[in-house]
Amino acid sequence: MDFSLSEEEQSVRDWVRTFVRKEIQPLEQEVLRRERANQPGLTHDVLVELQDKAKASGFWGVQTPEEYGGMGLGAVMSALLEAELGRSFVQFRFGGYADNILYYANDEQKQRYLLPTLSGERRSCFAITEPGAGSDARAIRTSARQDGTDWIINGEKTFITGGNEADFTMVFAVTDKEKGANGGVTCFLVDRDQGWRSEYIDTMGEWGPAALVFEDVRVPKENILGEVGRGFELAMKWIGRGRYMLPARALGACERLVEMAVEHANTRVTFGEPIANRQAIQWMIADSAVEIEALRWLVLHAAWVVDQGGDSRHVQSIAKLYGGQKANEIVDRVLQIHGGMGYTRELPVERWYRELRLLRIYEGTDEIQRRTIARNILKGHASISGTLG
Ligand SMILES: Cc1cc2nc3c(=O)[nH]c(=O)nc-3n(C[C@H](O)[C@H](O)[C@H](O)COP(=O)(O)OP(=O)(O)OC[C@H]3O[C@@H](n4cnc5c(N)ncnc54)[C@H](O)[C@@H]3O)c2cc1C
Repeated sequence: MDFSLSEEEQSVRDWVRTFVRKEIQPLEQEVLRRERANQPGLTHDVLVELQDKAKASGFWGVQTPEEYGGMGLGAVMSALLEAELGRSFVQFRFGGYADNILYYANDEQKQRYLLPTLSGERRSCFAITEPGAGSDARAIRTSARQDGTDWIINGEKTFITGGNEADFTMVFAVTDKEKGANGGVTCFLVDRDQGWRSEYIDTMGEWGPAALVFEDVRVPKENILGEVGRGFELAMKWIGRGRYMLPARALGACERLVEMAVEHANTRVTFGEPIANRQAIQWMIADSAVEIEALRWLVLHAAWVVDQGGDSRHVQSIAKLYGGQKANEIVDRVLQIHGGMGYTRELPVERWYRELRLLRIYEGTDEIQRRTIARNILKGHASISGTLG
């Protein structure tokens, strides 16, 4: 068992680490200022400028297959890079990304949707959640009925990330009520100018998701992604595309937060001594260090199983659940160590506190991850002894 990084992995990781320190972290104060004025922290132009800088050094399409010009990096390498990006709350992502299910598009759809998304000309959003169907995604009610060779979509989606900015959506609609999620849901690629509208949803974080409204939106059959009735499988593929990436980002955030806590603990003096000398503070640092170490290996192990081509759902659920829980406990401790300053908007701790809360909700809540993990263990699909069992 070799836990060390190869030279190549180390140099790729180090490049991103330097990029984050030199190019992204210096933007943090400005991003905070803008967000607090209810503006997007990172404007699209600045994001594109950063992406172009990264691209000049070959960092483009990190997980995009090489045949599309991407780097085609594996899951372990991608998780390492995501953890580095997580060391800043600035919502930077490398250019050259497209949702995994867009690769199921036919040639003509690839020209219209996949390639322009990779090049950054077009923006997508993934829309399955509805006011009446979140964890229970099989209960969606948005419908599409056939009219000649067209389909007419009606319904409402909610909490759609990027829904305000997207110019097309991958929307999931019931095309056969009898079959429902078992062969009766279809995915449609729908341009905004085909008639759907979005409404901003105010949240406690800076995510700004949208509600999407479809009222008699007519699309030709050419807009069906994949096959009629096979949409639910596509949705599950999208959700399962890399659950380890969310806790990977949280891992980076936790590392940076604890570094901030250590610096504060060493310099903040109360009753004549730095608070770092107090056992109460030391235990918070120690518990956080242990949990960060555990999270690191859960994330990397899940990514490794993905790279091996094995069934990674169980280990990904474990990493996502643990990451969400522990990141929230850690940010709470870091806020506590900073005292009143931690609660102010002068420091980014409260910014992370709000953002990390989301990790326990989206892409499968804590409870849904527990349900998956318990089912796997109880039904014997996964061993309590893990990969080595
Ligand atoms: C900021 C943000 C961005 C999002 N982005 C997207 C997106 O891009 N696209 C998209 O389609 N969706 C998106 N979502 C939706 C997200 O995936 C759902 O909010 C999430 O799956 C939970 O669904 P829900 O909100 O309907 O909660 P519910 O499913 O109503 O759950 C409510 C509570 O009940 C618990 N619960 C539910 N079922 C069970 C059960 N069987 N056993 C025990 N407990 C249970 C849940 O864990 C939760 O605590 C986003 C959400 C947010 C907040």
